[in-house]
Amino acid sequence: MEIAVLGAGAMGSMFGGRLAEAGHSVTLIDINQPHLDAIEADGLRLETDGKSRAVRNIVATRPEATTNAPELLLVFTKSMHTRTALSGIRHLLGEATSVLTLQNGLGNVEVIQDFVAPSNVLIGVTTWPADLVAPGAVSSHGEGKIRMMSADGKGASKAVAVADALNSAGLNCHVDQNVWAAIWEKVAFNAALNSLCAVSGCTVDQLGLLEDSKQLALSVAAEVISVANASGVEAELEICSSNILDAIEKHRGHKPSMLQDVLARRKTEIESINGVVVVAAGRVNVPVPNTETLAKLVRLIEARNASAFSK
Ligand code: NAD
Repeated sequence: MEIAVLGAGAMGSMFGGRLAEAGHSVTLIDINQPHLDAIEADGLRLETDGKSRAVRNIVATRPEATTNAPELLLVFTKSMHTRTALSGIRHLLGEATSVLTLQNGLGNVEVIQDFVAPSNVLIGVTTWPADLVAPGAVSSHGEGKIRMMSADGKGASKAVAVADALNSAGLNCHVDQNVWAAIWEKVAFNAALNSLCAVSGCTVDQLGLLEDSKQLALSVAAEVISVANASGVEAELEICSSNILDAIEKHRGHKPSMLQDVLARRKTEIESINGVVVVAAGRVNVPVPNTETLAKLVRLIEARNASAFSK
């Protein structure tokens, strides 16, 4: 398959690298010049479960330098960059281009549908992890999976073709009509752990130091799942709560991306996680005080970082 990856950071490079290894024609599109230069010079350095190799049959380029419309565009920017990134590759979006988002949070589908027909949009969620370890180098560990479907609930054949391509790279993809439940469960998980770690500076396991902070995480998850349920999505609190407790017990030293972003003075995905939940909660009249407070605190940290940065 002709595949382009828009936003070839940690996840985009890992997915792109594995798809290229499986024999697909892959173009990584990004604006991070040192990363692009390193891939051009030495290939993409990909490490999975301690096995490191260079993937050389892969093109890494800037948005304006790409010309061929791909069969599949995989969107892996952070959510707050989705619209700008798609604007930069508008010329690549052919009528036959399927666009798949596996980004975290909510709202990406709506943005993508401003650029391509709803029938071409695929939506999903993934548990694969990835880290950008240096320009041109990404790592991943363990087993993940992908659940996805056509965003309009109709284009099953497109979803199956894309799932086949992802599975040819061992990415463990299932077409799943119930994907919105999984997406909301992940939003609940991230709304709880990402924002709490971003505000407190704690790693995920450090949230277990106090019973209060564990309970706070669980209460945020309960708020988010209530909003999902009131919006007609059958997300399950039990699944989400057990994932949260499991992460607090096992993810030793892990800094969620929102904490990494505030430490690096970058903007975070707070609006597409806690922020969007607060808006949805207003529509269905569900109180979400903890989710909202955490959103306000993360915004304050972003504002402080922006002002300190400008001095
Ligand atoms: P990342 O920051 O490593 O990568 C994002 C990339 O997008 C960067 O390389 C950046 O340069 C690029 N970008 C920004 N603006 C662009 C533009 N205008 N045009 C082209 N490229 C642009 O982020 P990531 O960790 O790979 O995460 C991507 C998405 O996947 C996020 O929504 C994240 O929440 C989600 N996610 C991440 C993980 C993980 O383990 N890293 C796991 C699951 C889901």
